Amino acid sequence: MTAHQLIAMAQDCGFELAGIAAAGPVAESNHYIDWAARGLAGEMRYLIDHRAEMRRDVRSLLPSAKSVLVVGKLYNTAEPYSTAAENADNGWISRYAWSRDYHLTMKERLTVLAQRIDADSPCEYKVCVDTAPLQERALAKHAGIGWLGKNTCLINQQQGSWFFLGEILLSLELESAAMPAPDRCGTCTRCIEACPTDAIVPVNGAGPSHEVDSRRCISYFTIELRGTVPEPMREAMGNHIFGCDICQDVCPWNRKAPVTADPAFTALNVAPSLDQMARMTAQQFRQQYRHTPVERARYRGFLRNVAIAMGNSGHRKFESALQSLAMHEDEVVREHAEWGLTQLS
Ligand code: SF4
Ligand code: SF4
Repeated sequence: MTAHQLIAMAQDCGFELAGIAAAGPVAESNHYIDWAARGLAGEMRYLIDHRAEMRRDVRSLLPSAKSVLVVGKLYNTAEPYSTAAENADNGWISRYAWSRDYHLTMKERLTVLAQRIDADSPCEYKVCVDTAPLQERALAKHAGIGWLGKNTCLINQQQGSWFFLGEILLSLELESAAMPAPDRCGTCTRCIEACPTDAIVPVNGAGPSHEVDSRRCISYFTIELRGTVPEPMREAMGNHIFGCDICQDVCPWNRKAPVTADPAFTALNVAPSLDQMARMTAQQFRQQYRHTPVERARYRGFLRNVAIAMGNSGHRKFESALQSLAMHEDEVVREHAEWGLTQLS
């Protein structure tokens, strides 16, 4: 099978972006290891433990790998961007989390694609989606499907950045003529200026021009951080209760981003009522968000986020819900609810 045929097969399986990178050391790893060593990954252990070194080379996952097929699945919908949405009564959930957990959808579809490849050209392969320790955005860049923007997202010149990435490591030797896509951020600094918490910071030394300091990023606070959100950061979080899209919403390459017709990414849970969210029991949370990315915040973290959003709303009508949260059995929820009440008063 040629690289060209493989890419055509991936597109036939519904992946809008597809390219091939060689398996081997990834040049961007040095900056990644340095980024993690400087503490910019915050408390995300899975990014800084022994798996950080594994990310240097996909052969740590499949020793026979010769090539990496990198695909992108468009998930954008016609719903407004967070920067255009107006409703302080509601919380904001990141665009990628509006539907069923993409890890499940991507894995199913990549497995079908891998089986088709194997039927055509028998090989060893490994399917990877997000959680596997590899440098997926850097590999996507080397596969020629986009560049890494100052917001650190992969951006495709024609289709923007609303893509889930996935990889199939292959023992097949494939000649790919792909060159890394040129960096088209140029002098633009929109994402840097729009970030409410100044999380996109310049890099001193070798590597990309900018990096994200997770310890200042709303996505990190609302999804990954398990305990208390640093108080000086809370006001800037606005109504975000799960993730943040601002640095993608303002990117000019997303101005005309296409939308998907794929029913797997139909928008559910776009901007839920804060009042309803604050009154959810643990069981209701599990029922509502089972098999969606929102599960990852966990019940306690989600209520913490809702309390912050209520405190930032300026609406005293949320006082009663916050008073209930201030008596919650969980200490973290109580503390953030107290903070929210103080903000409203
Ligand atoms: S996700 Fe939000 S907080 Fe994080 S870097 Fe982008 S704009 Fe800033
Ligand atoms: S907003 Fe501008 S600087 Fe930021 S990623 Fe997009 S093009 Fe690059």
